[in-house]
Amino acid sequence: MDKKFRFSIWYFILAFWLLIFLQEIYFASQHLDEVSYSQFKVWLLDDKVAEVTITDTIINGKLKPDVQEEKGNGFQTIRVDDPDLVKILEEKNVEFSGVIVSTLWKDVASWVIPILIFAAIWIFMFRRVSQGAGGSFMRIGQSKAKIYMEKDIPVSMKDVAGVDEAKEELLEVIEFLKTPEKFTRIGGRIPKGVLLVGPPGTGKTLLARAIAGEAAVPFFSISGSEFVEMFVGVGAARVRDLFENAKGMAPCIIFIDELDALGKARGTGPMVHEEREQTLNQLLVEMDGFDPRVGVIILAATNRPEILDQALLRAGRFDRQVLVDRPDRPGRKAILQIHAKAVKLEEDVSLEKIAAMTPGMVGADLANVVNEAALLAVRGNRETVAQVDLEEAVERVVAGLEKKSRVLSVEERKRVAHHEVGHALVAMTIPGSDPVQKISIIPRGIAALGYTMQLPTEDRYLLTQSELESKIAVLLGGRVAEELIFGEASTGAADDLQKATNIAKRMIKDYGMSTTLGTVALDQSGPSMFLSPNDSSPRSTYSEETAREIDQEVRQLIASQEKRVQELLTQIKPVLTQGAEKLLVDEVMSGENLQELLRLHQAGEPMMKPAT
Ligand code: ADP
Ligand code: MG
Ligand code: ZN
Repeated sequence: MDKKFRFSIWYFILAFWLLIFLQEIYFASQHLDEVSYSQFKVWLLDDKVAEVTITDTIINGKLKPDVQEEKGNGFQTIRVDDPDLVKILEEKNVEFSGVIVSTLWKDVASWVIPILIFAAIWIFMFRRVSQGAGGSFMRIGQSKAKIYMEKDIPVSMKDVAGVDEAKEELLEVIEFLKTPEKFTRIGGRIPKGVLLVGPPGTGKTLLARAIAGEAAVPFFSISGSEFVEMFVGVGAARVRDLFENAKGMAPCIIFIDELDALGKARGTGPMVHEEREQTLNQLLVEMDGFDPRVGVIILAATNRPEILDQALLRAGRFDRQVLVDRPDRPGRKAILQIHAKAVKLEEDVSLEKIAAMTPGMVGADLANVVNEAALLAVRGNRETVAQVDLEEAVERVVAGLEKKSRVLSVEERKRVAHHEVGHALVAMTIPGSDPVQKISIIPRGIAALGYTMQLPTEDRYLLTQSELESKIAVLLGGRVAEELIFGEASTGAADDLQKATNIAKRMIKDYGMSTTLGTVALDQSGPSMFLSPNDSSPRSTYSEETAREIDQEVRQLIASQEKRVQELLTQIKPVLTQGAEKLLVDEVMSGENLQELLRLHQAGEPMMKPAT
């Protein structure tokens, strides 16, 4: 709301009341000697009255100049209902006029006040609306109100821990911002956009600020959701403004937080969001339109890269993605150390132990742990934070996290470790499966308690029968390992089983990879769903008997792979236990490490290396 505008409304209201007030005063000033109506009538009939002003309640009058009354010439009387008055006044040639005094302001008020009320409501709503849009209604498009520009950011890379890989990748960006000439001279391609990807609270925003702090450049930050306004075109104008401002301040960093709010794939979802699309398009245009050599680097953060519009990830836009993952144990310790600097710790506090207690927690959770511990110490009237405070704080934070991610019991962790190593070992020993990149038991959300990451060596469009069988075997590896070590399976393998069963079904029904059923495709995909919406699912073109055969065949296929895996893992059980033990300690393990254990075992050498 414009301040001046609001002021003028108050002036208007003030002027109105002043007017009424003055009018009252004017008539009050004529409050002359009050005489009775009969006295007035006598004067009137005696031809003594010169003029009168009649209102609906009173009559003001003046006597003729030559009439000498002791009280002076002016008089006032209360008007009574006298139908003959006007007639007499006319007869006596008295000048008279009527004034609507008291109803004048009533009448005016009766139409002014509703207008004022409406105006007030209107202004109120107007302000609400414009506040919703950032409180700068009159400045649509001028993003100054929403873009935060900071100089001299007090955050440095030292304040970020546990994300070493990301830090390393970002060093180049800092280098470039510090000395752009060095890069431009060689003509190297400078990253235009860097996308920080990772779960919430892992320090993406912090990293972006640290980059700006390290490079000592201005930092423009805006949240993706702030771009998306209720007025079509505002977001796009903001983007234009943002880039305009940034170019003037180069070298600098533009940081778009929560890019997913803005960069959702266009034209998907139930509603096409016109405004968001326009904003996104403008962002794409701006990103293409400027030369990275001017020294503007665009950072963005998201925790849902999968929903981003593909156009954003294309070369020349956010073509570099940096994974900011959940920290491992040493990483958590380092983060705890950073945050513990702000509080006084007792001498015997072991952050190592706290780090070991908190698998799955992210930087924000750990900062929270330290803060809770400090609060507990204060509540206990103690000067320093003790180990028990930290441990209780962990429990509190865990309780708060319960729904988001789980912190596992010791037993559960052991099971998960064996399960994952089981997957990995099968993948390593079986021909035709992708090499194992990484094994982790850092929980990610509710669904995944651990994971084994396999990297395909090449892009595959075709898979052979034996490769599909290998895939099933690897999927069964987790469950079989659990059975082998703990004597029974757990619910943790449900997802694996589902995937394995799906592969087996498709092998038999779609790929004709069953000897008993023969080379037949048993599902026919239905016609296009636009032609016949009721017929969109694959049509089963086989009898019930065949269905039974398929089920049997699927079961058999999986059973044979299970047997294969059982034999395989029994043979290398020592590697399984050793690997799981190591994984329990380190939480993350590279494929090479496990491969080395396997090699040592197969060569008949002791696997345990002297502790370092
Ligand atoms: P994100 O943007 O990934 O959701 P933030 O950067 O907003 O996470 O992190 C929130 C807070 O948590 C930070 O201000 C910091 O105090 C703490 N934090 C998160 N990650 C780290 C980390 N890797 N090192 C140190 N502190 C961290
Ligand atoms: Mg953030
Ligand atoms: Zn599994």
